Amino acid sequence: MSKQSTETMLKFIGIDGEMPAKRDAKIRAEDFGEIYADYIKSKAKEQSSRCSQCGVPFCQSGCPLQNNIPDWLYLSAEGRLKEAYQLSAQTNSMPEICGRICPQDRLCEGACVIEKSGHGSVTIGAIEKTLTDNAWENGWVAPLKPVSERGLSVGIIGAGPAGLAAAEALREQGWQVSVYDRHDRAGGLLMYGIPNFKLDKKIVERRIDHLKDGGVEFVLNTNVGTDISFNELRKKHAAILVATGVYKSRALQVPGCGVEGVIEALPYLTNSNKLGLGDKVKMDTAQDKHVVVIGGGDTAMDCVRTAVRQKAKSVTCLYRRDQANMPGSARETQNAMDEGVNFEWLAAPQSIHDKDGQVTKVRAVRMRLGLPDRSGRQIVTPIKDAEFDVKADMVIQALGFTPENMGGLNSDLRLTDYGTIKAHPTKFETNVPGVYAAGDIVRGASLVVWAIREGRDAAAAMHQYLIEQTTQIAAE
Ligand SMILES: Cc1cc2nc3c(=O)[nH]c(=O)nc-3n(C[C@H](O)[C@H](O)[C@H](O)COP(=O)(O)OP(=O)(O)OC[C@H]3O[C@@H](n4cnc5c(N)ncnc54)[C@H](O)[C@@H]3O)c2cc1C
Ligand code: SF4
Repeated sequence: MSKQSTETMLKFIGIDGEMPAKRDAKIRAEDFGEIYADYIKSKAKEQSSRCSQCGVPFCQSGCPLQNNIPDWLYLSAEGRLKEAYQLSAQTNSMPEICGRICPQDRLCEGACVIEKSGHGSVTIGAIEKTLTDNAWENGWVAPLKPVSERGLSVGIIGAGPAGLAAAEALREQGWQVSVYDRHDRAGGLLMYGIPNFKLDKKIVERRIDHLKDGGVEFVLNTNVGTDISFNELRKKHAAILVATGVYKSRALQVPGCGVEGVIEALPYLTNSNKLGLGDKVKMDTAQDKHVVVIGGGDTAMDCVRTAVRQKAKSVTCLYRRDQANMPGSARETQNAMDEGVNFEWLAAPQSIHDKDGQVTKVRAVRMRLGLPDRSGRQIVTPIKDAEFDVKADMVIQALGFTPENMGGLNSDLRLTDYGTIKAHPTKFETNVPGVYAAGDIVRGASLVVWAIREGRDAAAAMHQYLIEQTTQIAAE
């Protein structure tokens, strides 16, 4: 490391890690606005200077996109904000989105060396978000301009982060790109799953407009397999990317779960987001209700916090393992606790009870953590005679998602035992030539940053395929 960079960096001993200011829990629970403020520029610079510039940057390995974090932290600490943004944008199609919603505690920041030595991680995500928001504000985000126009076209099924990342990369190379989605808006779960208080929808719309301005065509309200067949798309485009995500909800399997008031998480969150976008939606909100959410992942946290904002009388989360074993982001769980959510850890639902067909309570049982199973996760067993009741007018099932039946889309696609699409691990080609797949439909329910990574990798392989097709056509 040069003397100059030693002077700029390694400030972690004298400067504490500091996240951007969070709005007061009571105030933010009154609305759906994002909860973190931006860093002021001097704070982003100061926080970047805490990086220890280690020889082996574990943060980079912890980031699914292998972002060159130490270098853009250095540029940011030097006040070279435009260059810092440009470097971060080289590996990430949506840095401002990842900076907001990656579970950094499990990824880049969890791997940060100064975190391991007890100084508290560099606030990588918050800096990445600030750099990119600042770049948008200053007009530094370059318009999407293809290197040259090429004749062949690509059809992308699914306008979630995997599809959008691939669309951008392919359009940059000059291919004609059409993105099909069954929803009325693009964005996938960025638009209709993740609530506004984590990711403002204007941020997603800005990215989509950027693609539209660069010539990407969006064909919305189009369910591929129903409104247009896969084979028709195949004939229309030289290559196809399937980026359809996973949408089949895991259902609660206890007596009584068919009664009124027991609902699925995703339609609940989708409708809430639609309301926030100004759409006219008929939905049962949580207002004045005792709400019980079952599950411990990101979806469960989004449901409890949405219910708080809809002015529920009480919100309780039931999760069968303990807090340390929750699959969602620890930060989001803390945010939910601060906003008044009551957590019942080591508790599993046993039965749902009703009056005249309307849910009235959930009977739950205390669980005990046991030895790890073959996958390494501790097994849980119910404790005898440890039942308790939780009052409920609304029960939200947030137990995760599995793939829908892909046979309806194309029966030739080879699937895994879990129903996800089998694809090459780095090129993402399926068993059908010219058909690629990426994101949750390959990996199973995962993260936005992984969807972006796979969308980018699939696009790189599709680009090569399309070049070969072009050469073949020219030779014919
Ligand atoms: C409630 C919730 C909260 C989450 N929070 C976080 C978080 O905080 N951080 C994080 O990193 N990850 C989070 N995730 C996970 C993340 O959203 C997903 O991993 C990511 O969106 C997957 O991207 P994708 O592009 O593969 O699929 P999706 O985002 O699911 O997009 C798929 C798109 O395909 C469309 N589609 C499906 N079938 C068809 C068809 N036949 N024809 C046309 N269109 C079709 C869908 O309408 C959808 O728009 C969350 C997930 C949920 C459900
Ligand atoms: S993309 Fe996500 S994991 Fe990678 S540096 Fe940004 S916040 Fe961290």
